[in-house]
Amino acid sequence: MVRMQDIDAASVDAWLAARAPLHTAQDAQHTGVALIEESGADEGAVVEAARAWQREWYDAGYAELGAADAAVVRSVAANYRLPDLRPLLIGLHILGPALREHGTAALQRRYLTPILRGEILACQLFSEPEAGSDLAGVRAKAVRVPGGWSVSGQKVWTSNAHFADVAELLVRTDSASSRHAGLSMFVMHMDAPGVDVRPLRQMTGGAAFNEVFLNDVFVPEENLIGEEGTGWRVAMTSLSGERAALGGEFEAVPPQLVEKLAAMALRRGRSEDPLVWGCLADAAVADFAHRAVVEHGAADPQLAGAAASVTKLMVTDLLEVVTSAVLEIGDAEVLLERGASIDAQWSEFILGKPGVAIAGGANEIQKNVIAERHLGLPKG
Ligand SMILES: Cc1cc2nc3c(=O)[nH]c(=O)nc-3n(C[C@H](O)[C@H](O)[C@H](O)COP(=O)(O)OP(=O)(O)OC[C@H]3O[C@@H](n4cnc5c(N)ncnc54)[C@H](O)[C@@H]3O)c2cc1C
Repeated sequence: MVRMQDIDAASVDAWLAARAPLHTAQDAQHTGVALIEESGADEGAVVEAARAWQREWYDAGYAELGAADAAVVRSVAANYRLPDLRPLLIGLHILGPALREHGTAALQRRYLTPILRGEILACQLFSEPEAGSDLAGVRAKAVRVPGGWSVSGQKVWTSNAHFADVAELLVRTDSASSRHAGLSMFVMHMDAPGVDVRPLRQMTGGAAFNEVFLNDVFVPEENLIGEEGTGWRVAMTSLSGERAALGGEFEAVPPQLVEKLAAMALRRGRSEDPLVWGCLADAAVADFAHRAVVEHGAADPQLAGAAASVTKLMVTDLLEVVTSAVLEIGDAEVLLERGASIDAQWSEFILGKPGVAIAGGANEIQKNVIAERHLGLPKG
């Protein structure tokens, strides 16, 4: 494992310059803005490119940095056109933190480095038809069998289940318990017999998430993360990693979003319209404010918990402001665009936006988190 301290921006820049192109003004005309996923993209190629990039990134020592060093790397990397790294998000920011904080040494040895090197991709089997915001309502259950557990139940909205190697699985191991007690967390292999993945088609046209049916799936004892019955605590670790990633660390906002908006105004001959200037200025302010809070939150560990919820809300505010601008510049006809054009991607952007407000804990839940944990208000 390579660790770095006081990383210097110039060496990161030199490393990136040898491997990736800088963003150019041209990119704003051509590269994507689709949220969640690009429905027309070759998913297999996207996944392989993410794996390959992550392997080099890890080997160079950039995959395991403290918050301050990670912020330096992130700000330099923002200048470069990097592969789409969304296939890695769940392993790096959801399962990874759970294993690091609660996993046995054997689990950490087996899974952490392969996750950090992009060799093992993960999905997250938390949500169920009756357990979303109210995650303590999980009903999928695991019963003891020789050598481990047998799992049955249904999960839903599982991003990446169709290409993931493993899952972080939240189930009820004590059927007499209810709510937060009696839940346990496991690492489950997605190729185990009894795992049935069925795609869910979204209004964007893509199928980035799935229903997952579990029919007597065997999970070995050693794949329990934490103690039996402590699944809720492990889930909280994962969910705060997810919030932080969706709020900023993982670039939930497509690169050069405001520049791409300006390029659209130029392309459509609207760049001298004062109404459009106003929209672009609103978008630039929301973008700047989001980035500033991400950096500030990263630099101050005391803020880290609340900052993750705040930045997640700021992302959706930014996407909202950008959507208003797109509809002003491009008119509602943008929504009818299909195919590979940049305007078709703006259509996917708008259709993908509601999903961002829900994923990783709905915005209303983030507001509850800020009220209860940061402001100390009583539980609603
Ligand atoms: C793009 C995307 C990717 C996802 N990927 C995954 C994944 O990989 N794995 C996974 O397990 N899940 C995933 N999810 C599911 C996601 O975590 C849930 O959709 C989310 O937690 C909300 O749960 P729900 O859909 O059951 O809605 P509900 O919980 O039924 O909520 C419905 C509405 O009620 C509001 N609400 C509910 N409770 C409260 C409250 N206490 N106070 C105020 N308002 C409230 C919510 O904010 C929401 O607006 C994904 C979702 C999306 C959109």
